[in-house]
Amino acid sequence: MSIQSNLLEIKTSLPENVTLVAVSKTKPVADLMEAYEAGQRIFGENKIQEMADKFEQMPKDIEWHMIGHVQTNKVKFMAPFVSLIHGVDSLKLVEEINKQALKNNRIIDCLLQIHVAEEDTKFGLDEKELSELLNSESFKNLKNIQIKGLMGMATFTENQDQIKKEFLHLKTIFDTTSKLKTENCQLEILSMGMSGDYRLAIDCGSTMVRIGSSIFGNRN
Ligand SMILES: *Cc1c(COP(=O)(O)O)cnc(C)c1O
Repeated sequence: MSIQSNLLEIKTSLPENVTLVAVSKTKPVADLMEAYEAGQRIFGENKIQEMADKFEQMPKDIEWHMIGHVQTNKVKFMAPFVSLIHGVDSLKLVEEINKQALKNNRIIDCLLQIHVAEEDTKFGLDEKELSELLNSESFKNLKNIQIKGLMGMATFTENQDQIKKEFLHLKTIFDTTSKLKTENCQLEILSMGMSGDYRLAIDCGSTMVRIGSSIFGNRN
């Protein structure tokens, strides 16, 4: 199967309200261009340097999403061009993104990453930390960041019931938090679901899926 046919098959199967992020980490620009030529304009990367290199080389109507864990000292390298940062999980990082966005005269859209998986290894806020962050005075004063939604990853398991339980948990947090609407926080996007579990994620309320290997093939 080619990248183009994989992409078109997935795209036609998605409900209208679900956005596809083509996760292109580790893949060469030629592969991304194949997807671009099939109409894809949103790409997800998990390393800032790799994303910046691809941004330089590729057409400028692409939206670049950072889906990986972000170190505060690297924010400045993507602040000029990133369109959505998915994995934001601390006030410190929020403040740094705001600072770099201001320097670039931009408002940067972000998702807060929520920890719903069983593993300790996955990054993210729990419900209490989420509420503390959103209600903190320092957050309320930030003008160059927009919290657009939440992102999460399920446990790496074959157990569909467990994955479903975790997705539904995230959806519940999303629905509760969506009621809070402030100047810099209005939740519209729920980013959950990857190649192995995106159909289940959509059934559980996802509005943005991050799909890599089902489009580009396995990574090395
Ligand atoms: C790599 C990655 C994906 C895509 O994974 P696939 O299983 O290849 O679809 C999605 N989300 C995040 C955060 C990732 O790091």
